[in-house]
Formats: sequence, structure tokens, C-alpha cells
Amino acid sequence: MKPKTKKQREIMSLVPKLTPISNRQIEYAEKYLFNHYAYKNGNAAYCMTCGNKLTKKELEEGKCSCCKNSLLTVETKKRKESEVRYYAIVSKCNKYQVIRYYYVKRSMVRKKHSECMFIPVAQEWIDGKGGKPTYVARLALMNSYYSNNIYSLWSDMEIRTKRHVSESITYPKINLIPIIKRNLGDNVKEVCNLKSLSISGVFYLVMNFPHAETLVKAKQYELFNEYKRNGFIDNYWNVVKICIRNNYIVSDFDIWKDMIEAIEYCGGDISNGKNVCPENLLESHDYWVNRMEKIKDKRQKMQDDERAKQYEDEYKKQKGKWFAIAIEAKGLSIKVLDSVKKFIDENNAMHHCVFANEYYKKKNSLIMSVTENGNRVATIEYDISKFKVLQCRGVCNQVPAHYDEILSIMDNHIKMFRKIAKSA
Ligand SMILES: [Zn+2]
Repeated sequence: MKPKTKKQREIMSLVPKLTPISNRQIEYAEKYLFNHYAYKNGNAAYCMTCGNKLTKKELEEGKCSCCKNSLLTVETKKRKESEVRYYAIVSKCNKYQVIRYYYVKRSMVRKKHSECMFIPVAQEWIDGKGGKPTYVARLALMNSYYSNNIYSLWSDMEIRTKRHVSESITYPKINLIPIIKRNLGDNVKEVCNLKSLSISGVFYLVMNFPHAETLVKAKQYELFNEYKRNGFIDNYWNVVKICIRNNYIVSDFDIWKDMIEAIEYCGGDISNGKNVCPENLLESHDYWVNRMEKIKDKRQKMQDDERAKQYEDEYKKQKGKWFAIAIEAKGLSIKVLDSVKKFIDENNAMHHCVFANEYYKKKNSLIMSVTENGNRVATIEYDISKFKVLQCRGVCNQVPAHYDEILSIMDNHIKMFRKIAKSA
């Protein structure tokens, strides 16, 4: 795209003035952008970063004494490998904060020093006003979702629409424009290392969201990291403020959030620092979540009882004439569930869904419980229009013990079922 606005023209005139990538920046990327490998084949092993032949001791310690890198050992016959990563460098140019993204391809050949190629592919220009950044980039490739190569490397750097680049690391020496410097405080290094935020995302947050700015300044990096993905932090800002006031750093967002929600569910006080800033987060989390589960179970039980009660009369009207059935054979006892309440017991004892799925409402189905010496063995769904077993299930819907016997007992009683069906 040709630059159209005054700002775009200004930015395009500044592009050639950016200082080229420095040796230090290159060295940093070579050390931290990629993993370092020891390729081992039989008894011979080489450092794929510097080409050094590794001794047994070096291999055991996982460290190359030549390039000093920690090594991951890979058993392989491969002689060559290459990898691509993206690298971000943040600099200042006039009033702009510029994030430059480099495509870095490292080629490794056994016994040789690895080589990295750095190609600038995109730039994000942020002015101090918090508006949308301007992108200068190479042509984006379509259908590049499955490869790491998202730009046409030899196209021109032009004003283009945004394409998200996820850099693997950011060079930690960063010169900030005044507004970002003010909002970030002296926490640049820490926010650079956050796992789920790109450096561009960090700048966007601290320039546009006062809460995000507060979190960084309070060194609540875990909360800052989750800020964008979660409305929770804004919704529970008063609770966050209590943590900040108590110098309590939230170390694990998901667990802390679960705990806060559980405290609230249990009717606990989330404006009490003792509750929301626990010394032992895990212990506290478990305590409140267990309490919540108990309350939920109780509520569920009450709801179930209420539901059962509402249908009890109707159930009796529909199935009452079957209630007298009590079959005793082959050491088994088979009885019709004679109330909806009994569906709840059967459901919970057998861990299936005979109550939850409202089998008591099924017109042509009769639900029976099979016991042996008083212990539940199976639940039967019997079709009272076709006189056959539709289902016979054990605990957790498994095939029950005595399955064949149960079916044969039911078969032997067809006459009885037919007779009851005909009765008024
Ligand atoms: Zn080495």
C-alpha cells in the first residue's frame, strides 16, 4: 500500500533511518532464541550450535564447554537441521515506539558452527497517543498456517494491514517513549518474559487500560498476563485492590480465581483480606471449593426432590397397577420402582441417568431394580407395549452380573406382564 496519510508518509520516511540490528542483538538471539542441541549418533556426539565434538562428560552434564550452552541431547542420524523463529527488537524513532520483527532462520550442520540469518519482516509503529499502531511489513503469505514462514521474504516493506506475529523472545534492552515508560514503571524486563503476552500486547494494555497499568506497577504480573483474556479482573477489581493493598502477589491466576468464585458461592466475604489473600493458596482453594461442592450437592438434591414430588401423582396414575410386581428367581429379586423418589436413589446408587433423563415420564417404559441379597445389581427398562427388555444396565451403564439370567427371568414372566397390561 502506498502511504496515504501524513502519518504514514512520515513513518515511511523514518523507516530507512532505523539503526540496523546490532551485533549484541544478534548474539542475544543466537543464544536465547533457539534450543541448543547435542546430536548423538552411536558413540559420537556433536554440539549443533558450535560444531564441537562432545566428550562423554559434556554429554552427561548437558553442557558444551566450547560455546557454554546447555544442550538437549537428541539421538539421531540427521546431519542437518534448520529452524525458524521470530525475534522482536524494540526501539525508539522520533516520537514513535517501534517494534521490529525479525525472521530468524538457523541452519545447523554437524561438525560446523550454526548460522543464523536475520531478515526484518514487520514493524509496528506506536505513537504516544494510544491510537492504532501503523504496520510496515513485507507481503503476508496466504495459507501459511502450517509453516512458520508467514511473509514473502523478498517483497518490499510497505504500509500494510496488521498480521499477528508471535515472537519467541524480545531483546531485553528496550528504550521506551515517555508515555509507555511512565505506564510501565521499571518493570519492562519482567513483562517481556510473560508467557501469553507479546511485547506489542503489553504496550497496548498499559497505554489503553488503567487497571492493566496498575497491575504492572504493583508487580502483579500473573494478573496482568491474564488481564486481556479475562473480564474477571475488571469485574473483581475491588478484590484485586485488596491484594495490592496487602502486598499479596497472586501466583496462580486460575486457582486464585476458582477460589474467589467459590468463596462468593459459599456466601463468604470477598472483601476480607484473610479470605482473598491466603497464605497457602492451594489449601485455601481446596477448602472453599469443597465447601462449594457440598452446597451444590445439597441444592441439587433439593431440586431433585422437588422435581420428583411434582411428578409423583402422575407417575402413580400411569404406572400404579405395575407396582405390585415382585419377582423372586435364581437368587435375584426384581421390583418396579414405585415412586419417582426411588428413581433418584436408583440413579445415584447406580451412577446412570435413570432419574436425570426422566425415565419415569416414558409412557411405555417400566423401570425395575434388580437386587441380590439386598444389593443393587442392575436396572431394567421394560417395554410394556412390546413386552421386552429395552435396557439392562449395571453400575455406570456397564453390563451387569447375571445379565443372561435376568433376561431369561424376564422372558419367563411375559404372561404376567401381558395380564397386568390388560387389567384396568
Ligand atoms: Zn557448543
